[in-house]
Amino acid sequence: MVQAERKHWKHLYAEIVATEICCGCSACIVACPHKVLELRDFDPLQNDGNSPFDNCVHGEEGCSLCAMACLRLGPALDVIEPAVWGARRTDDQAEGAYRSKTLARATDPRILARGQDGGAVTALLAWALDQGELDGALVAAPSEQVPWLDEPKLVRSSEELLATAGSRYTYCSTPLGLKKAAEAKCKNVALVGVSCESTAVRQLAAEGIKRWVRPVKLVIGLMCCETFDYDAFMIGKVEQEMGIPLHEITKVNVKGKVIVTLKSGEDVVIPLKDARPYANEWCHHCPDFAAEHADISCGGLGMEGWTMILVRSATGEDFLNRATAAGVLELRPAEEEPGALGVMDRLARKQRERIDPFDPHANARWVSEQALAAARAEANSAP
Ligand SMILES: Cc1cc2nc3c(=O)[nH]c(=O)nc-3n(C[C@H](O)[C@H](O)[C@H](O)COP(=O)(O)OP(=O)(O)OC[C@H]3O[C@@H](n4cnc5c(N)ncnc54)[C@H](O)[C@@H]3O)c2cc1C
Repeated sequence: MVQAERKHWKHLYAEIVATEICCGCSACIVACPHKVLELRDFDPLQNDGNSPFDNCVHGEEGCSLCAMACLRLGPALDVIEPAVWGARRTDDQAEGAYRSKTLARATDPRILARGQDGGAVTALLAWALDQGELDGALVAAPSEQVPWLDEPKLVRSSEELLATAGSRYTYCSTPLGLKKAAEAKCKNVALVGVSCESTAVRQLAAEGIKRWVRPVKLVIGLMCCETFDYDAFMIGKVEQEMGIPLHEITKVNVKGKVIVTLKSGEDVVIPLKDARPYANEWCHHCPDFAAEHADISCGGLGMEGWTMILVRSATGEDFLNRATAAGVLELRPAEEEPGALGVMDRLARKQRERIDPFDPHANARWVSEQALAAARAEANSAP
């Protein structure tokens, strides 16, 4: 039997980075044992002086860890899905498989005030850090130098965590924090990330690159249609074109439109159609709205003050149940918000349309062979 060629950095660069399919999740950088990759403007590039960044001597020598870590080059969904859900997903599960769904919000008014929706992510993690269930959380933290730009951060206490509550709609490669957790010798960490970032952690585990993900005990996924390019959107559109100084902004929210809240209390609205052109190119290749591979997935779905939670794994269920029993979360049935459930279903299905049935890489693996064959046949028969 002819073995498929083992891919390495050269292929990863040519097929994923140079084509702008790369989402900058940083899993390849975390996986690289030779430390020759680094993230520059969300692109992994070689830092050993090799030009034009596409030739790695270690790849020639047989190292393929960066390519194995890439969820865009070849997501190991056949391993990831059973590991998280106990089964493969069926084509009709647009938002991925889950055990239960609930609405949640923080009972601590400080968290509720700072959270993006119901503050459920922060409340759950704060409880776990306070109880010693976790000794760290890998989150996106607002930069101290650059307003509205986030950096991956390892936080060790609930006070530190509170400062990171809320959403920034630009990209932040939270898996890069896995290295910080290893350096700090953390044993039990949670990772928060948008859909691709939650899959990135699973991809590392599925490919046996376990050193970095061994301490990860909980993955919290954030539902996500797209992220915005910081320079183009926050600087170009919001600050320069609209004349809003970034330090005047207290919150950015997306609820069918982008709502920019200022310190004065005024809300400035940007229609989604005007914001969409600033989405990062790589997001257009992402078929996963609902962060399918997280232990729990969270979204606001047009609601005010509540977080919708999909509980996907036994681990997620256990954390959520114990945090709720401890009184840090208030729950109510998801069915009380049929509008939000409708939004979730619609957005998840819409995002599936990003699957290209002819894509030789990642994205075609998100549906079954039968569905792919049907999509290809339909595309081929189109006039
Ligand atoms: C880029 C992005 C796009 C999103 N798009 C949608 C959407 O289309 N529809 C929808 O229903 N929900 C979306 N969400 C999720 C939503 O904004 C909330 O994060 C979610 O409902 C949880 O709310 P919460 O109040 O419980 O979280 P909080 O308690 O406020 O905690 C939020 C957590 O998110 C982390 N975080 C903030 N920004 C980022 C970032 N850029 N990358 C990674 N982690 C981050 C913080 O570190 C914090 O730990 C998006 C989130 C992000 C970051």
